[in-house]
Amino acid sequence: MNSGRYNLVSKEAKKKPTIITVNGVKIGNSKLAIIAGPCAVESYEQMDKVAKALSSMGVKFLRGGAFKPRTNPYAFQGLGLEGLNILRRVADKYKMAVVTEIPDLRDLDVIINKTDILQIGARNMQNSQLLKEVGRSKKPVILKRGMNSTVEEFLLAAEYILSNGNPNVILCERGIRTFEKETRNTLTLATIPLVKELSHLPIIVDPSHGLGKKSLIEPMTKAAIACGADGFMIEVHPNPEKALSDSKQQFTPSEFKKMLKNLKTIAKAVGKTL
Ligand code: PEP
Ligand code: MN
Repeated sequence: MNSGRYNLVSKEAKKKPTIITVNGVKIGNSKLAIIAGPCAVESYEQMDKVAKALSSMGVKFLRGGAFKPRTNPYAFQGLGLEGLNILRRVADKYKMAVVTEIPDLRDLDVIINKTDILQIGARNMQNSQLLKEVGRSKKPVILKRGMNSTVEEFLLAAEYILSNGNPNVILCERGIRTFEKETRNTLTLATIPLVKELSHLPIIVDPSHGLGKKSLIEPMTKAAIACGADGFMIEVHPNPEKALSDSKQQFTPSEFKKMLKNLKTIAKAVGKTL
């Protein structure tokens, strides 16, 4: 890593791992952060069902896209502000924290007041204007790795946020584009121990988008925990077959519950808890 470029994100800049507190819950310590919820907010009933189930499993972070950046312009684009309001209401009802994506700088003011963590999506990882504004906001942020970005570019994107005043960055590995077609992306888990060598920032994994295939999510989440991830973000929908986006990769609440149980042994083996 070239010195002078990572003034704030590097281990040299700060030796102790960064722990970020959101609504009283810490991310980056020995308790793994679990973020779950549907790809997109579709209705109050959908969110209520999923949040009720997740909160009963002890999940503290509820995700859901309200403003959806889709590859296809004709695909469901999210409910927008209405979706954001549903997400907030439901999260408050179950005492959960909200995680939602900010795809466009123009929506920052409205989103910032209704979310607990801002998510910067893979498609926006190098949107420097967005990174700067989110940096000025001080709001905790999940920064997803761009599907075409190197780890160096990923850390430089985080440096944008920190250098604009916001130290509350959680990195998220979500896979990159390769020649492999069997999975949606190639989930490059080496990023996790690599980032741990280079930076003090917490890093989580998103195996849902990284793989796009339900059957691979549990083994790869286990692998991510084994190599030091600080948590994971997984898509869960009350009725995945009917989901308006990413239906193939979303778990039902009961599938997710089963997986959480199966993760306990590996978490314990590396000194973590769920
Ligand atoms: C998401 O998490 O909702 C999402 C769109 O993921 P990504 O930006 O990683 O594609
Ligand atoms: Mn999705």
